Amino acid sequence: MRLYGLTGGIASGKSTVSRMFRELGAHVLDADVIAREVVEPGTPGLAEVASRFPGVLGPDGRLDRAKLGARVFADPTERAALNALLHPRIGQAFLQKTQALMEQGVERALYDAPLLIENGLHAGMDGVVLVWVPRALQKERLMVRDGLEAQAAEARLAAQLPLEEKRKHATWIVDNTGELASTRAQVEEVWRAMLARG
Ligand code: ATP
Repeated sequence: MRLYGLTGGIASGKSTVSRMFRELGAHVLDADVIAREVVEPGTPGLAEVASRFPGVLGPDGRLDRAKLGARVFADPTERAALNALLHPRIGQAFLQKTQALMEQGVERALYDAPLLIENGLHAGMDGVVLVWVPRALQKERLMVRDGLEAQAAEARLAAQLPLEEKRKHATWIVDNTGELASTRAQVEEVWRAMLARG
């Protein structure tokens, strides 16, 4: 099975493009979904997080992501501890899911992961699709979507590897600057290229 990475930056349109690939019949594994699954109630992942970060469970026994986020956001040591705890579990769940697809005879799949390149996973992919927009537009869409002031939007952009850096690792670039129809046409072209590769 061929496995292609799909990535972008915050508010660059990755979810939009991921949906377009699914509409074309692509199998898409979603890193955010996997990251949530490994800390579902009743999982060993959640038990470990709750023991390392006391007070992050809500009254319903679920992870309070806002609380956990506040704990790790400002503190790189805490953030590293959380990552060390979650990454192996996410990796294992990812492997299980790709194996299940292979057993079903699926020939190609996409791995939709915001931090694909930051985490070095692009190197193991058969190709990488980057959803790109110019930085000013990325900031504008982020402010509108999340109701953020310019400064808050800047802070979020600064916490990520710039799309200009990510471009260097892309096999295909989907430019999401224009109308959705233009983005869809590019997605169709990339999908055709993937099909042509076998
Ligand atoms: P994140 O990773 O931060 O969740 P994302 O990369 O998945 O973001 P989307 O949520 O798909 O990005 O898009 C960001 C915002 O921009 C959304 O509000 C979306 O509706 C809007 N948007 C996406 N593509 C376009 C487009 N081509 N034209 C106009 N608006 C767009």
